[in-house]
Amino acid sequence: MTGEPHASQTSAVDVVVLGAGAAGLMCAIAAGARGRRVLVLDHANKVGKKILMSGGGRCNFTNTGTTPANYLGANPHFCKSALARYTPTDFIAMVERHGTAYHEKELGQLFCDESSKQIVRMLLEEADAVGAQVRTHCTVESVEQPGERHFRLRTSHGTLECGALVVATGGLSIPSMGASGFGYQLARQFGHDLRATRAGLVPLTLSGTHLERVQDLSGLSLEVEISCNGASFRNAMLVTHRGLSGPAVLQISSYWQPGDDLRVDLLPGRDAGDWLTARQRERADAELRTVLGEVLPRRFAQRLCEVWLPSRPMKQYTPAQLRELADTLACWPVVPSGTEGYRTAEVTLGGVDTDGLSSTTMMSRRVPGLYFIGEVVDVTGWLGGYNFQWAWASGHAAGSAV
Ligand SMILES: Cc1cc2nc3c(=O)[nH]c(=O)nc-3n(C[C@H](O)[C@H](O)[C@H](O)COP(=O)(O)OP(=O)(O)OC[C@H]3O[C@@H](n4cnc5c(N)ncnc54)[C@H](O)[C@@H]3O)c2cc1C
Repeated sequence: MTGEPHASQTSAVDVVVLGAGAAGLMCAIAAGARGRRVLVLDHANKVGKKILMSGGGRCNFTNTGTTPANYLGANPHFCKSALARYTPTDFIAMVERHGTAYHEKELGQLFCDESSKQIVRMLLEEADAVGAQVRTHCTVESVEQPGERHFRLRTSHGTLECGALVVATGGLSIPSMGASGFGYQLARQFGHDLRATRAGLVPLTLSGTHLERVQDLSGLSLEVEISCNGASFRNAMLVTHRGLSGPAVLQISSYWQPGDDLRVDLLPGRDAGDWLTARQRERADAELRTVLGEVLPRRFAQRLCEVWLPSRPMKQYTPAQLRELADTLACWPVVPSGTEGYRTAEVTLGGVDTDGLSSTTMMSRRVPGLYFIGEVVDVTGWLGGYNFQWAWASGHAAGSAV
């Protein structure tokens, strides 16, 4: 149920959930199933906007291989309990109960066959079935705490009182979709520490000569293995007119900090030295740019040989020169100038410091009855369905406790 409620509809609620996104709706479903009277508020004109736009409109709703190692955050152990108690199998069971067809794209990533609207519809049906109310177009102006486990919210639809308040307002990415910093503001108001926020799963930009050297290759994609700060991802890299994107780049962007270089293995899964030595033996008269063009996009191979690798017939390279070529191919240096920022980022890194929260219930250690779930918390998943799985799992953990 969404839209304008009557005052009587919401006069007595136990739990108010702020944010009708992935985490907030799951929390409402779990709390409603336990007989709690739940009201979900959202300032946007419709619920689950990020679910709707996710996965190219097909929502990559979970990843069958989810483990705590797929998440970033100051405390890597924090996500363990919630993820163990609400698993991808649990969410898949709900999807199947609703007759929604899905498929695995790659690497355990599950997508709807038809539309992400099916996931939003499913969540709303589940919420409705347990009596949870969902109200859109509702702005929260202030939150006060008149007593222990007693919150008073002044909203654009009047004043509300509740014993438990769940903050599920998400991160800062894509402000045009309803993202706001309100969850962080509330955390601060109630004495919680915040971990610095920054855009994650975001295209990286290049500037100056770094950009000039590749800009005209925009649209070209190749499989690479990218490494930075101890993390490594093998997947596609896409050259854009402003820098680099594609799944491998989005993944590594969450590990990249301004000033860091990326190391890009252009021949992933191959030993570049062995490969070049074999090519020298088999294709002695062929130019380097030709043999590289057989395993890399031809225009990319050509550019590599114009800027980074001197192209000659293979037979002319000494073993030492082959080793140098191999080093460049295995460790092509990329120096990003920045990221495309929250405008295009899929997630926000950082957020409410997990030291202040219980990892089993998501409840504040400082303020009993106050909970933080989903992306507003300092837990951020890799690309590939992990962020929704965190939203479902943390929402379920709080919903089982409120
Ligand atoms: C383009 C895009 C594609 C993505 N694709 C995927 C994918 O395929 N798989 C995946 O796992 N993850 C994906 N993600 C990430 C995923 O969408 C988020 O991690 C997830 O939605 C977080 O859930 P959440 O409930 O914490 O926040 P959200 O889903 O963002 O929900 C927060 C809700 O709070 C509301 N809100 C915000 N401020 C206020 C306020 N002041 N008052 C009231 N309400 C407020 C918002 O309107 C919103 O409805 C994608 C993200 C983007 C941007």
